[in-house]
Amino acid sequence: MTHIIEIKVPDVGDFKDIPIIEILVQPGDSVEKETPLITLETDKAAIDIPSSHSGIIKEFKVKVGDTVSEGSIILTLKPITDSTNCPTPTKTIKSKEHRPSLETPISNQPTILPHADIHAEVAVLGAGPGGYTAAYRAADLGKKVILIERYPVLGGVCLNVGCIPSKALLHMAKIITDAEESAHMGINFNTPKIELRKLQEWKKSIINKLTSGLTTLAKKRNVKVIQGNGTFITPNMISVNTPSGKKTVSFNYCIISAGSSVVNPPGINHDDPRIIDSTGALELDEIPKRMLIVGGGIIGLEMATIYDAFGSKVSIVEMKDQLIPGADQDLIRPLFRRINKRYEAIYLKTKVSKINPQKEGLKVTFEGEMSPGIKTYDRILIAAGRCPNGHTIEAKNAGVNVTKQGFIPVDNQLRTNIPNIFGIGDIVGEPMLAHKAAHEGKLAAEIIAGKKATFDALTIPSVAYTDPEIAWMGLTEIEARKQGIKYEKAIFPWAASGRAIAMGRDEGMTKLLFDKNTRRLLGAGIVGINAGEIISETILALEMGTDMEDLSLTIHPHPTLSETINFAAEIGEGSITDLYMPKK
Ligand SMILES: Cc1cc2nc3c(=O)[nH]c(=O)nc-3n(C[C@H](O)[C@H](O)[C@H](O)COP(=O)(O)OP(=O)(O)OC[C@H]3O[C@@H](n4cnc5c(N)ncnc54)[C@H](O)[C@@H]3O)c2cc1C
Repeated sequence: MTHIIEIKVPDVGDFKDIPIIEILVQPGDSVEKETPLITLETDKAAIDIPSSHSGIIKEFKVKVGDTVSEGSIILTLKPITDSTNCPTPTKTIKSKEHRPSLETPISNQPTILPHADIHAEVAVLGAGPGGYTAAYRAADLGKKVILIERYPVLGGVCLNVGCIPSKALLHMAKIITDAEESAHMGINFNTPKIELRKLQEWKKSIINKLTSGLTTLAKKRNVKVIQGNGTFITPNMISVNTPSGKKTVSFNYCIISAGSSVVNPPGINHDDPRIIDSTGALELDEIPKRMLIVGGGIIGLEMATIYDAFGSKVSIVEMKDQLIPGADQDLIRPLFRRINKRYEAIYLKTKVSKINPQKEGLKVTFEGEMSPGIKTYDRILIAAGRCPNGHTIEAKNAGVNVTKQGFIPVDNQLRTNIPNIFGIGDIVGEPMLAHKAAHEGKLAAEIIAGKKATFDALTIPSVAYTDPEIAWMGLTEIEARKQGIKYEKAIFPWAASGRAIAMGRDEGMTKLLFDKNTRRLLGAGIVGINAGEIISETILALEMGTDMEDLSLTIHPHPTLSETINFAAEIGEGSITDLYMPKK
């Protein structure tokens, strides 16, 4: 969580009461670690005092002419973290809601551009999976591209503090629980010795491998990366606060891919280091004895999977009446049954009303149907969602509309209300997922390059990499009921899957929803180990307009978990032989 840091004069040798002759930065500037802040003049030489942290300068405590010594406070700084205070969502914006079917022709490029330090045909603001994909595709299509990223590494949330580090730790968690559970199959392992430092180094090496790979890919394509916080000045110009000063970038087209940040729910004291967000949880600097996870969504549950495997007593509190609200309840049930046994508690329809930090622990007061009253925890992870970064880029200077919540509305060609400015990824709407961002990034680049394209994917799949995993795509039963869509369903229980039984994990199921008349696939949901991998076949099937007969007649390898899709389709067709289900 964000603190305000005081930047002080470090050890400068034997000097005392040294006058400040120059102030090199100003409040509001974003600085990197080692950026020079002030210049001091001793009787021997001028010394630049660098920042000990990266962040945004809040307030200067000194001025030119003041004298300072070791320990004098120079300024206060808000570290740049991946977190903001997000206005309470009044309405969750889904990507497709912004996408009226308008076929806006490619706008005429502005002919007269203001003078800037550097010019790009396409400027991409933010180098997460949306931004780097857009930048590389645009470069491959012959555009001169500048990629602006506030951090020194590319990859955004996904590579640095999201998808990849969480999956690295989930992999380790799976090794531990698999070993634990093999005892009843006759194989006993000793209790694992967890070396957190080594584990962190391993996780870091994975991130480094991927992010340095992105830097190489940018170089190979001549994509110029500018490091610094970018903000709009006009519809054709961005100002970037780089470590070596402000730079202006003019552009014909811009793709906004500035992503999202952790939500800090109001009323929670974020200053206590024992209260962490997902970024803090991925640091895994210690294994708390008792941990409360606020929020039973995908991120909270993945973290719960990790900390439970590493030995913490985990509790989850969720305001809604089910975990992963939005997913069909029958998919959640097998996960719920398993974790309800493993975790200390799961409180649904309950919320945290107060956290009182005490020396011995964090005293939490709960409110709601399953409230346990007051409980004490060693750590609290706030996983209450993410908030789009639309309000942090001075979009109004470019005339780009931003919703109250911080989303940037776009049409089905990813175009904002300003014709030469596009938006992609988390900042344009739900679902906030890396594969959506990357797909949109490619599309925006192609449209800018003159290709005729629109966002017309039939589904954006979702996966919770919990244990068991939950994956779904296309129509859910919740949506079907809401929209009054008539459907039939076929469910194959993994209790009849030879492969699932052989792996000792037969709690899963594969569900297909299909149109009653055409028998075409409408949606699918899978719960079970590797559900996130298996779901892809159904996505292709949906995009290809496949019906139950196609899926039931496709020969799947045996014994696999993927053949449960084939079996579910056979149930839909009434031709299943692995179960006794005579056609009604
Ligand atoms: C713990 C966790 C686990 C996740 N796991 C998954 C998963 O398994 N699968 C999945 O699909 N998704 C997952 N996500 C979500 C996924 O990370 C995001 O959906 C994805 O990163 C969005 O990509 P993006 O390009 O839109 O934005 P981001 O990845 O947020 O990238 C935006 C970039 O813009 C930069 N930026 C912002 N403002 C500025 C500015 N003014 N100037 C310069 N640069 C700026 C940021 O520094 C950042 O690098 C996870 C997220 C978290 C937090």
